[in-house]
Amino acid sequence: MEKKDINWSGLGFGYMPTDYRFYAEWKDGSWDEGRLTTDSTITMSESAGVLQYAQTCFEGLKAYTWKDGSIVTFRPDQNAARMQNSARRLMMPEVSTEMFLHALDETVKANAAWVPPYGTGATLYIRPFLFGSGPVIGVSPSPEYHFRLFCTPVGPYFKGGIKPLRICVSDYDRAAPHGTGDIKAGLNYAMSLYPGDIAHRNGYAENMFLDAATRTNVEETGGANFLFVTKDGRLVTPKSSTILPSITRRSLIAVAKDYLGLEVEERVVPFEEVREFAEVGVCGTAAVISPVGEIDYHGGTIKVPTGMEAMGPVLGKLRETLTGIQMGDIKAPEGWIRKIC
Ligand SMILES: *Cc1c(COP(=O)(O)O)cnc(C)c1O
Repeated sequence: MEKKDINWSGLGFGYMPTDYRFYAEWKDGSWDEGRLTTDSTITMSESAGVLQYAQTCFEGLKAYTWKDGSIVTFRPDQNAARMQNSARRLMMPEVSTEMFLHALDETVKANAAWVPPYGTGATLYIRPFLFGSGPVIGVSPSPEYHFRLFCTPVGPYFKGGIKPLRICVSDYDRAAPHGTGDIKAGLNYAMSLYPGDIAHRNGYAENMFLDAATRTNVEETGGANFLFVTKDGRLVTPKSSTILPSITRRSLIAVAKDYLGLEVEERVVPFEEVREFAEVGVCGTAAVISPVGEIDYHGGTIKVPTGMEAMGPVLGKLRETLTGIQMGDIKAPEGWIRKIC
């Protein structure tokens, strides 16, 4: 199959419409069968639930072209399950795993020419989302919904080499106890834009959010979970009911245990402990792992021993192994790879 004529390695992380996207509509208690369309726009009521009361959630995953030309996705069943959790919490109808995977397969197949070739470092980013499309004015769940899925090619995350991040501890909270921090709701991102802008204006790549209740424990950044490595080589990751359950983090934990034989601790991580770690990173679908080199807080700076030039050896090995699995160069655990075509 002929790929599009694009400078794949030069791509950034931005929206570029491809030929097809999928949508299905929920009305009168059920989903229709859904379909592909070339129309990248949406027409809906000015009083739609998504516009008035932010009734929306999303997912993010990638498709990869392997060396043999086949196109695969990574653990999409986990994205489907997470979107079902988000839907329940926001009073939206669930999209079954079967329907989610059908939309994914159809859309990626129809856009096969847009899936970046093997070896370019670029990937196809896939954005499934669900929102209230029917009119509301009193606060209530929307009477109608759209499930949609589009994709866009994105470039290698680390163009010109891996660069550790400088981050700062935010004065704002990301998620309240018993709130919506553990679901992938658009509203969690809307309220993170302002603290994100403050961080950027002060020269930081990201915010580190602490737990809202005590402001003593590490939670996550606006869109990625934390990973720490102790001086004796154990992998530590914060455990909290208000952190978004990253599929990358859960996969890296399995890789750490089963491929690298590391000890893994999922537990509360006091901010006070961060200065003791040998390596710090954040993880998510976009970058897999980004190293963190410096963390500023009121009263000081934590300089991570691996510094501002390189990724530490343990996080480096973890990243290399997981990307190897995703690109088909390392054998994946059972059920992690969905071959699309
Ligand atoms: C999506 C997201 C992540 C990363 O999850 P992955 O499944 O690894 O992509 C982390 N934190 C937040 C807040 C997120 O929304």
